[in-house]
Amino acid sequence: MLENHNHSAPLTPMHALVYEGPHRIAWTTRPRPQLRAPTDAVVRITAASICGTDLHILRGEVPGVAVGRVLGHEGVGVVEEIGAQVTGIRVGDRVVISVITACGRCSFCRQGMPSHCRDGGWQLGNTLDGTQAEFVRVPFADNGLHVLPADVTDLSAVLLSCALPTGYECGVRCGHVQPGSTVAIVGAGPVGLATLLTAQLFSPADVILIDLDDNRLEAARLLGATQILNSSANNVAEQVRALTGGAGVDVAIEAVGLPATFALCQDLLAAGGHLANVGVHSAAVSLQLERLWSANMTLTTRLVDGTSTAMLLALVQRRRLRADALISHHFALPEIVVAYETFAAAARHRVTKVLLHAP
Ligand SMILES: [Zn+2]
Ligand SMILES: [Zn+2]
Repeated sequence: MLENHNHSAPLTPMHALVYEGPHRIAWTTRPRPQLRAPTDAVVRITAASICGTDLHILRGEVPGVAVGRVLGHEGVGVVEEIGAQVTGIRVGDRVVISVITACGRCSFCRQGMPSHCRDGGWQLGNTLDGTQAEFVRVPFADNGLHVLPADVTDLSAVLLSCALPTGYECGVRCGHVQPGSTVAIVGAGPVGLATLLTAQLFSPADVILIDLDDNRLEAARLLGATQILNSSANNVAEQVRALTGGAGVDVAIEAVGLPATFALCQDLLAAGGHLANVGVHSAAVSLQLERLWSANMTLTTRLVDGTSTAMLLALVQRRRLRADALISHHFALPEIVVAYETFAAAARHRVTKVLLHAP
């Protein structure tokens, strides 16, 4: 075999899903990622998934994503390489990759907000190449990877990258779901359904799921929603009032990211209620303070931190969370462009969440 002594070895190619600008993605060839820092790991992807946020990127609504970026922040794989300072992860470990990259040392990491890490945050598939590829480089691997027990399948584990911690941290925990709470979740997409699953850890009295898509509402009913309401009916707020003895709900969780769904949440709230925003918004919404100033309400916003991932993994392993029930469609990783088209037309194809398997 010939060796080239004048240059470093040519980079081994891999396949990856590359953002080529608004409405344009391609499964194409890229150099396989290599370690850059001693705290990095390189992971060979065995399963990945597509997030609603990826659809926002594809529509050009996340301006920080550069043309040429490998997309994806949800994935499971096997550790191929580790840097010299990685101590908690070994080559060959099966891992789930967290959406959040965290140095663990900066002021925000130490406050429990690694989503705002000064040297991290949501980087994979955003400002760094992501998981919808054959290989991915994961910075601060000790913080960004969780080793998977052998009895947790890729199918369940992939929801731990983003959907389950987002629903739990930004929806359930920020919304202060309590035993006996009445909860409305607006949006029955993957994160809305993950919120539904994790809300039930607290034994709420009622969880009402509201969406436009009857197929997703049926999925919600099977996953434990006590009521499902199609928001195409123009009296949804009245129906929720009727279901709650006229009071409204203790917790309204916005899991869509549109002005109309944010407005609906404000109409559903009981006095003293919590409105927890989970949705990714790209347009201004109106906060009806002229009506809500005296409502003793609490509004929260949050980025997922992934600080609950280890706890959620323990619950998935013990079958206390049926994460795998969120996956409706399976594709081979090289079919990812078709998977995006299918997920983007979720109602037509009856999709809740897609899983991509590496061949
Ligand atoms: Zn996500
Ligand atoms: Zn940090």
